[in-house]
Amino acid sequence: MKSGALVGPFGKSLLIPVMTLIAGGAVGALLATTFLTSSSDIPSSSLSMEESQEAPGAPLEAAASKPEESDEIEASEVLEKEAEVTVAAYATPKTESLQEMTKTVSVSKGDTLMEVLTRAGADRTESHEAITALNEIFDPRSLRIGQDITLYFGNADDIQQSDAATPSLIRVSLNEDVDRQLAAVRTPGSGFTAQETILELDKKMVRAGGVIDSSLFLSAAQAGIPTKTIVDLIRIFSYDVDFQREIQPGDSFEVYFERFADENGNILKDGSILWASMTLSGKKLSVYRFKTEDDGFTDYYDEKGQSVKKTLMRTPIDGARLTSGFGKRKHPTLGYTKMHRGVDFGARSGTPIMAAGNGTVEFAARNGGYGNYVRIRHNSEFKTAYAHMSKFAKGIRKGARVRQGQIIGYVGSTGRSTGPHLHYEVHKSDRQINPLSVKLPAGRKLGGKMLAAFQSRSEQIRQEVASVELETQLASVKAD
Ligand SMILES: [Zn+2]
Repeated sequence: MKSGALVGPFGKSLLIPVMTLIAGGAVGALLATTFLTSSSDIPSSSLSMEESQEAPGAPLEAAASKPEESDEIEASEVLEKEAEVTVAAYATPKTESLQEMTKTVSVSKGDTLMEVLTRAGADRTESHEAITALNEIFDPRSLRIGQDITLYFGNADDIQQSDAATPSLIRVSLNEDVDRQLAAVRTPGSGFTAQETILELDKKMVRAGGVIDSSLFLSAAQAGIPTKTIVDLIRIFSYDVDFQREIQPGDSFEVYFERFADENGNILKDGSILWASMTLSGKKLSVYRFKTEDDGFTDYYDEKGQSVKKTLMRTPIDGARLTSGFGKRKHPTLGYTKMHRGVDFGARSGTPIMAAGNGTVEFAARNGGYGNYVRIRHNSEFKTAYAHMSKFAKGIRKGARVRQGQIIGYVGSTGRSTGPHLHYEVHKSDRQINPLSVKLPAGRKLGGKMLAAFQSRSEQIRQEVASVELETQLASVKAD
């Protein structure tokens, strides 16, 4: 019981704040490094000018006050799209052009991309064209204070009247992550086009673990395991382990995860957990990361090929309280008694809302009294719906695939609503049922070809893990 009290606070409620901190802090601070390494495509003759206008620590503060930034790590984790993105080659401007220079500007509080570009000296029309192109791959809301935007000016081939004193904007780029650079590039005759570049980072596998003294979070942190990895670890086991009750002193854990570094060996980011185990009261539970090729989802499975995910989440929001149950009630705004076909969770405006399970977004738009509304189809039988959102999370639109626990939007009071809350519905065969009492479907159990593929993959991971030395104290850790 003594340990339970210590574990509790880290089990679930801190999940979101911790992730926000990582997205805004550690990753943000590392952006500058990558800029230097990734700008080799710019001719060395170019003039470089730096404008640093931001006080240290500002990115962290901004991220903490804007919860929507916490889905950044999620998105790169979830979408598994690295393999699908081809590495684009930059259009190298003609070297004989007279006026060429690069300029790097930092985003200040309240800045729009337009303000940043015009402050750097870019023409408004050209800036508008570049931003329009960039918006195809970049969500302007994810612009961070302190983020560097690099502009490249030159004499574009297709601008005949170009005045030598005012060179044209050729390229605008920004790093969205340590390994993902987005750019709008002028192509002769066709204006600006969007480019996404995935930088190749060196991958090193890390195997770490230790004995749990008081809580998994604290013990893992003491072992030097990065916060993001600990949060992932807790999330993976949260369906099997009650972190408030089950952890006993002497229990142990092990985790095998990816770590990415630049060519100088500097750690840029920590990747996915490929394998993890927890030994609780002498009983060992191991999970393996595995992508099912038939539906493209990546999940964690136990040795028998059963997903660690047990059900749809009953409460797809952290730190909220149930304010209205399912069933007949007097309607708060209309006055008459009617059936309430969902459950309401009161929470502060802006609180992240998570997808209750893996699935496909089939509706994400305004929907009458529901306000901003998202509906996710999980399988042939179950759907979940989320209403009154203040806004949708980045990338949440009809047809988007989401992972359980992924942030899909934020609590608000849009539509017919008396105050900020999440109205949550579970639909079984297109009829609303009570989310709090229904027996919800379990995660996937692999069979047939998928099970065979999983068994061969998990055996491969076991051999890999055995060949890597267990570290009980990681040497180099990023500041969290
Ligand atoms: Zn409701």
